[in-house]
Amino acid sequence: MRVLASGQRPRNMRALIYDGALRVGVLPRAQPAEGDVLVRVRACAISRADLDIVRGRRAAEGHPAVLGHQFVGEVVEVAPPAHERWVGRRVIAQAHRGCGRCGACRSRRPSLCESEEPRALGLGRLDGAFAEWVCIPERCLVEVPPGVDDDEAVFAHPVAACLAGMRWIDGAPPQRVLVVGDGNLGLLLTLVLHSEGHTVSVLGRHPSRRDLLWRHGISFVGINENGDGRARLDGAFAAESFATVFECTGRGAGFELAASATRPRGRIVMLSRYDTEETFDLRLMVEREVEIIGLQGGVLDDALDYLARRRIDLLPLVQATLPLQDGAVAFEKAGQRGSLKVILRNAAESAPGVAS
Ligand SMILES: [Zn+2]
Repeated sequence: MRVLASGQRPRNMRALIYDGALRVGVLPRAQPAEGDVLVRVRACAISRADLDIVRGRRAAEGHPAVLGHQFVGEVVEVAPPAHERWVGRRVIAQAHRGCGRCGACRSRRPSLCESEEPRALGLGRLDGAFAEWVCIPERCLVEVPPGVDDDEAVFAHPVAACLAGMRWIDGAPPQRVLVVGDGNLGLLLTLVLHSEGHTVSVLGRHPSRRDLLWRHGISFVGINENGDGRARLDGAFAAESFATVFECTGRGAGFELAASATRPRGRIVMLSRYDTEETFDLRLMVEREVEIIGLQGGVLDDALDYLARRRIDLLPLVQATLPLQDGAVAFEKAGQRGSLKVILRNAAESAPGVAS
């Protein structure tokens, strides 16, 4: 890696800017504040949160904004008191800054910080990583081990959530579990649970997922698009119910499917963000004494350890990898029904691309 001294770096950087629409433009280069590091972004994946902001389903905190938090990059500069030892290291980062002091922050879950208003990278006020450079507080950094490629490291955030979800399964594998929803998160969760020895059934809408899952010996039941999902569920799982069901649709109907497949005193783990107001029938929760667990992430270090063990092949989960300058096209692709993960990549060398 060629590290440019601070004075040699371009004053500007190319970025995918969101100001109600997406456009590639030029912004002043990110400048690390006290305790921050400057990272040259290698790749950044489009997340559900990014898509929801662009679709107007989730408010960005400020405009113009650079989105993107599922990135991997190299540290090229530190602002004291951050430590020089980070320079040259390949990193990902917690999206939330947190206070760094409370119990949630100390257990590496700054998104649950108890003492500070959440400020998240790439969700508006803190510029994200769909750019050539991004500034990150040192305490949010996580080093990527050499065995994990860039295209794998950008999956660390959702993998962390999947691993956190898996901890709610009682008993050693193999346990029988149901995943409701075969969007990107449901699909990833299914492969993670399967890789750890659990017996997974998937209830989904995308017939294209069927082959991928069947190749792994995972049973897939299609939800009838126009029909009654519950009837379909009764037909498929009439004789069985599950102690642990994962709700990955982010829809009230998905939750109700999950509820009807959960056995008495079972547990529903909710991994999906709800981007619209949904109506839930909660009667079964009381009648069957079912426990509901909400989850919105996990510990990135755990995800990188898991990825370094090469338990799953993530390649089939990537729809496309495009250069940053094709950012708007990439978002269109990622927003298409049934799309898998879309990754934006910067040129390999630290060539700025933008005249200083
Ligand atoms: Zn905190």
